[in-house]
Amino acid sequence: MYRKSIETLSPYIPGFQPAMDGTVIKINSNENPYPPSPKVKELLGGFDFRQLRYYPDATSQPLRELIGAQHGLSSKQVLCGNGSDEVISLIFKVFFEEGDTIATPYPTYTFYKSVADIINVGVAFVDTAEDFAIDLQGLVNTGAKGIFIANPNAQTGRLLPLQRIEELLNNYSGLVVIDEAYIDFAGQESSACHLLGTYSNLIVLRTFSKSYSLCGIRVGFCLADESLIQAMDKCRDSYNVNHLSQVIAAAAFRDREYLEATVKRVVDTRDMLADELRNLGFTVYPSEANFLLCQPHGRSASDIYDYLKAQQIYVRHFDSPRLSDKLRIAIGTEQEVEILLRHLREYA
Ligand code: PMP
Repeated sequence: MYRKSIETLSPYIPGFQPAMDGTVIKINSNENPYPPSPKVKELLGGFDFRQLRYYPDATSQPLRELIGAQHGLSSKQVLCGNGSDEVISLIFKVFFEEGDTIATPYPTYTFYKSVADIINVGVAFVDTAEDFAIDLQGLVNTGAKGIFIANPNAQTGRLLPLQRIEELLNNYSGLVVIDEAYIDFAGQESSACHLLGTYSNLIVLRTFSKSYSLCGIRVGFCLADESLIQAMDKCRDSYNVNHLSQVIAAAAFRDREYLEATVKRVVDTRDMLADELRNLGFTVYPSEANFLLCQPHGRSASDIYDYLKAQQIYVRHFDSPRLSDKLRIAIGTEQEVEILLRHLREYA
């Protein structure tokens, strides 16, 4: 009944999802440990539920305007989606077809391949170096029709400097998607948004899931040349971002002060945790995201994963070849990180 290519797919399996009652330390999905802006609570407290009988703004126009203005762009250069995952799906739908190939570093965010598989688009994985540096020339050499780079990269946290992205764009005319889900933890100066006026083959992806602590409402967006956004607008679902999500995202987006304060808190804790893990004998890969990839020595990553799990601390351990001896730890609150470190010291 269904398409042949569906047979070989597997459903998305998230990291362990414990009860959300605060009794466990959940640092396995790169979520933000702090609540969203208090402006969100305020908004929901006074929310007129009768509004929900209307369809939402089909184009998410108020949110687009807000986001565009913040980036010095027009709202016609912004498109919002049901999480950046939906925007990624939309990019595949609009710019690629069966038989095309996209190139992406390995390792990276696994969802690019999940979507490519559905529509029989090939994925050329280009291995990162030992220190997870991305091989840009290798990506270009694949001859792929598009290049996807998560920056900072997923699983590793490594940041590709803006200048390198510019070099790539000078050297490659296919579609370049820079997925900046974690960029707020690296600093705006590293964002490829600065290049949008110069390159019309660039799409920059963002999300409310990480720095805004709003993965529960599923809002992501992309910024690109008006012509690309226009094409994507033709292909998205009619009311792809629900009303509550639009107004919550807008309230959080306006609260720049809270965003900066929580990002700083996460970044400070990240840098402290990296030092402490190194003191405990881990190799810690440089990360500009809200998580750390690290490798224990003398003990297996999967044993540490099991040990922490028994203490109700959930970190991420992958089976994939380059990551199987490593752990990915999202940055928790200062208190959660202290508890994590206490258990790691006891285990050492
Ligand atoms: N891109 C990257 C690199 C990610 O790690 C994630 C989420 N883990 C996403 C996109 C998807 O985020 P969203 O919640 O906006 O769908």
